[in-house]
Amino acid sequence: MEKKPLSIESRLAQIGSVQEPVTGAVTFPIYQATAYRHPKLGQSTGFDYARTKNPTRSVLEDACAELESGDAGFACSSGMAALQTIFSLFGQGDHLIVSLDLYGGTYRLLERIMSKFGVTATYVDTNDMDALERSRQSNTKAVFIETPTNPLMMITDIEAVCTWARHHQLISIVDNTLLTPYFQRPIELGADIVIHSATKYLGGHNDVLAGIIVTKGKELSEEMAFLHNSIGAVLSPSDSYQLMRGMKTLALRMERHESNATALATFLTTHPAIGEVFYPALPDHPGHDIQNRQSSGNTGIFSFKVKDARYVEPVLRHITLIAFAESLGGVESLMTYPAVQTHADIPIEIREAIGVDDRLLRFSVGIEHAEDLIADLDAALNAAMAEVEGSTGE
Ligand SMILES: *Cc1c(COP(=O)(O)O)cnc(C)c1O
Repeated sequence: MEKKPLSIESRLAQIGSVQEPVTGAVTFPIYQATAYRHPKLGQSTGFDYARTKNPTRSVLEDACAELESGDAGFACSSGMAALQTIFSLFGQGDHLIVSLDLYGGTYRLLERIMSKFGVTATYVDTNDMDALERSRQSNTKAVFIETPTNPLMMITDIEAVCTWARHHQLISIVDNTLLTPYFQRPIELGADIVIHSATKYLGGHNDVLAGIIVTKGKELSEEMAFLHNSIGAVLSPSDSYQLMRGMKTLALRMERHESNATALATFLTTHPAIGEVFYPALPDHPGHDIQNRQSSGNTGIFSFKVKDARYVEPVLRHITLIAFAESLGGVESLMTYPAVQTHADIPIEIREAIGVDDRLLRFSVGIEHAEDLIADLDAALNAAMAEVEGSTGE
């Protein structure tokens, strides 16, 4: 009988575990060496110099390529380093179409740095096919999407956009940070490049800064290998180890992140201090059906608007289990205020047009017990309402 291919849970748990032939170590060792001896002239072990290739980093990169159904993986020193490496595919006169509701750092990289090299970008709602078509220029080279977007959790139909991109010979790039290959694999839906801030769910413990690129296709993979080595923003051997260590439990963590976020989002929909809740797992979310079709689960991030902007300061002061901090995707729950933190570099007109206003909070739900998180948030919201109402004499 032919053996069934291993499920993603098994492949994650086993990253690197059978690749160390000398001692049989079940976790792959950290090779610190930057130089590798050549057996003789014209021969190589496959490793020459660690910026180009390092054994520990290679195990991580191969695992990521396989998990995302791509051909090659590249580990970078941060998500931003991965984005810079990808954007280096483009140069003077090239144009990109980019998701409107975008990670603030990606926007800053495009507007403040890539612009100096003559690369321009148009920001559109990538779910609106007419808007996509209208933004296409003769020099457009690629479309870049985030789905769900951070922080507003808007969903883009990956397959529709990638099919459109292929038709116009554009490279399609998907930032898959919020769902990870455990829940969503954009390359299987037609994408050419996937990027991750591995600092978030892949690492998962708020203790390693890393970025991952996965490419599909020989030519693109070779070009990315050239850029990765030439730019040199590569991940260190010990951080590569730390990232693999985190990825082994990705399946368990994502399941808990999803169930906790669903419990918390559902709780907030009926709380008197809350205006709106943005979470694709909720049935009335506009992207709910597309999300269910293209992904096998939901992220642990959602955002919500309090009814009164004056609640924000006391809520952030009163949460105790949930930390007021600027990241996402770790086992610890974090609350972020996008307007002043992650999205401060996006001009206020754009921010407010897309809804990132001063009532919006983003919640990265950790793997603590859902009831403890509900109790913490409920107490903070009630205290905030009492303070604001007290101060206005209502
Ligand atoms: C955090 C993040 C990035 C940037 O990654 P770093 O690891 O912080 O450099 C890019 N995209 C998304 C969606 C992110 O959340």
